[in-house]
Amino acid sequence: MKTHVKALVIGGGAVGTSIAYHLQKAGWETMLVERDELTAGSTWHAAGLLPLFNMGYATTHIHKYSVDFYKSLEAETGLNAGFSVCGNLRMAQTQERMDEYMLYSSVAETADVYHEFLTPKEIGERDAELLRDFFTMKVAGAPGGETIEQVRERTAAAVRRAVDAHEGGQVLVVSHGNAIMAMLAELLGMPRESTWSFAVANTSMTRLQFGRRGRVTLTGFNDHAHALDIVAE
Ligand SMILES: Cc1cc2nc3c(=O)[nH]c(=O)nc-3n(C[C@H](O)[C@H](O)[C@H](O)COP(=O)(O)OP(=O)(O)OC[C@H]3O[C@@H](n4cnc5c(N)ncnc54)[C@H](O)[C@@H]3O)c2cc1C
Repeated sequence: MKTHVKALVIGGGAVGTSIAYHLQKAGWETMLVERDELTAGSTWHAAGLLPLFNMGYATTHIHKYSVDFYKSLEAETGLNAGFSVCGNLRMAQTQERMDEYMLYSSVAETADVYHEFLTPKEIGERDAELLRDFFTMKVAGAPGGETIEQVRERTAAAVRRAVDAHEGGQVLVVSHGNAIMAMLAELLGMPRESTWSFAVANTSMTRLQFGRRGRVTLTGFNDHAHALDIVAE
């Protein structure tokens, strides 16, 4: 094993592997050490989203670079990272949300990110059914994406698998808010249009009890009492 290199990168997550790749490409002799296996850290858990509509200038430019980079990576390495590029539709229902999108927009412009604002009237003129179908959840999945039913079934099945693997025990699942809502709606047998009818606060805890014959009881929801005393220093 080499004992001397120009750059030693510690940790083979998204950040370490990217730094090692770019340093090596820039002509630096680079070595990467990983204590477990590549992507064993938080990178393994990430959804891999690279939204181009962000609050931060740096984040937007890094994401823009990454989107272009993933497109060229397969051609260079022959390995498919499973990255797919899709559009992004955001709805503002309040002036505050609109102000937030205007800020995103000004950042997006600095990275030449194509975007457009449409009023409900303009959306209606383009596709009379779309707006109504969106709010009544009749819109099918985005191209290459999942339908709401698929998201519900997938997230609920993942929780059931974890519960089945630890019968009689307690299972802690950490996940994104929307995944929690989809999973809950499915497990509690809620109708499709009620899927996003409740909000899950960041770091909150939701408790479910799994009985025999698959019966599920919601025993706690959106509990973030543990975070109330935390004060930023
Ligand atoms: C559920 C979830 C969803 C997410 N979704 C997104 C998303 O959609 N989009 C997005 O941009 N980000 C997302 N993130 C955030 C993203 O995953 C992280 O910001 C990113 O993976 C951090 O990468 P990293 O390389 O810094 O850390 P890690 O991936 O944690 O890598 C650190 C590596 O260092 C190794 N290591 C640690 N100590 C040592 C040592 N002493 N010696 C050798 N090796 C060591 C670890 O084993 C690990 O492999 C998500 C995160 C989570 C948890």
